[in-house]
Order: sequence, then C-alpha cells, then structure tokens
Amino acid sequence: MKVLVPVKRVVDYNVKVRVKSDGSGVETSNVRMSMNPFDEIAVEAAVRLKESGAVTEIVAVSAGNAGCQDTLRTALAMGADRGMLIETETELQPLAVAKLLKAVCDMEQPRVVLCGKQATDDDANQTGQMLAALLDWPQATCASQIVLSSDTATVVREIDGGLETVEIDLPGVVTADLRLNEPRYVTLPNLMKAKKKPIDVILAATLEVDIAPRLATLWVAEPPARPAGVKLNNVAELVAHLRNAGVIA
Ligand code: AMP
Repeated sequence: MKVLVPVKRVVDYNVKVRVKSDGSGVETSNVRMSMNPFDEIAVEAAVRLKESGAVTEIVAVSAGNAGCQDTLRTALAMGADRGMLIETETELQPLAVAKLLKAVCDMEQPRVVLCGKQATDDDANQTGQMLAALLDWPQATCASQIVLSSDTATVVREIDGGLETVEIDLPGVVTADLRLNEPRYVTLPNLMKAKKKPIDVILAATLEVDIAPRLATLWVAEPPARPAGVKLNNVAELVAHLRNAGVIA
C-alpha cells in the first residue's frame, strides 16, 4: 500500500517569530526552518505502519521553494522512501496546495494521504479537508490512532469528552493530531543515508493548476506587549493590590 505524506516547511517552532517591519508578514529570511511538527507526526505514523507491514511505500511531498528539499530530506531520514518537490516561488495558500496535491495523487495513486492536521505557520487546518473534497475521497481528521486494512482506515479521534472511532473506505485522506505518536529523532547516519534516496522535482507550473493566492494579507501585527509585573513582599500587600486592581472586593 502506497502512502503519500505532504510535509510543509515552516519556521522552526523554537524560533521567536518576528513580524516584518512593514507589517506585510512574518520574517522568514535567515530564520531556522523545519518540518511542520504535525507533519513529523504524520511521517512517523507512516513509517510505523510500514514497519508493521501495513504499508509498502512512503512518498513525502512538499510544495514550495527549493528550500523544501531540506524538509523532504528529513522525511527521508525518518524513513520515507522517496520525495517529491512541487517547486514554485508563488505564495501557496491551502486551496492551492490541495490542488497541487490532487495533481500528485492523480499521478501517484496512493491509497492513503496522511497529512498533518494543521501547519503551525498559518494554522489553517484546511488542506487535508480540501484535498479530500477535490479528490472526492473520504476523510478522517485529527487522528490519534490509525489502523489500516487493505480497504479501510480506522481512525480514533479525540473529541470533547471522549474518543470517537470512525472508519473510512480507501483511498482516503487522514490528518494527524498531536497525540498520534512521538516522532523519532533524525540521526546523522540516517540523514547521510537519506542523501541516496531520490527526490523528484516537478515545477508547479507544469501541473496546470491555478495556484494564484485568493486571499490578500492586509496587515500582520505582533501581539500587544504584556505590561511588566510587580513584586510584592507579603500576602497582605497581595490582597491590597488585588483589591486596588478591582480583582477582589
Ligand atoms: P494547513 O491547512 O495549512 O493548516 O496544513 C495542513 C497540512 O497540509 C499540513 O500539516 C501538511 O501536511 C499539508 N500542507 C500544507 N501546506 C503544504 C505544503 N506547502 N507542502 C506540503 N504539504 C502541505
């Protein structure tokens, strides 16, 4: 069974994100970039499914500029078999990514697309759902457990107040939630081995998909700075302070 894992290159989660001085977006030049954390979880899930014998091939695919090759190498070092870069300099919004991934699915015919549930840069939580709609495939989102059979995926989802188990027919789209697994660390030997694995580069323009942005970002701002705290010496001062601030009567 072939699984396609879309992986997005985003600002590393340890980096303190800075807004560009003109408010047009977030600074990404000279900033450490990494694989979207939910996509690491999706790659890990695919690798474990391969190790269990349920999956035979894992194809990692990333859409964006040439820098996404690094993200694909990480996926290959984790255990993906090959990578595909859908290269473009155009800013990609979720609908555009979903259209590009649909074109890849038409070529690759995977049984499962295993996305992250959301990208930590745009927090859109849309691409997997849009892809399922474009392909007219069933979807199971926010998976915290996945069991594959040849024709179905059984997915456990964490919902308010409990767990929900859904079963979808394959081919289908599954998106990975935080508690699905803890991704393995990429070791240097595996990173070296991954250099031998193939990455196909396809120019997005050759897929004949309209990827023009549909939304315009008007303005990006830092959150308001938090006022400085005060140091109090004892409980009596604390109570007086809270009373003055109107927190207690
Ligand atoms: P989003 O809808 O932007 O929150 O992204 C949800 C998921 O879609 C991500 O976790 C990835 O699996 C996939 N995805 C989004 N953008 C890209 C991209 N440029 N390249 C590959 N996969 C992507």
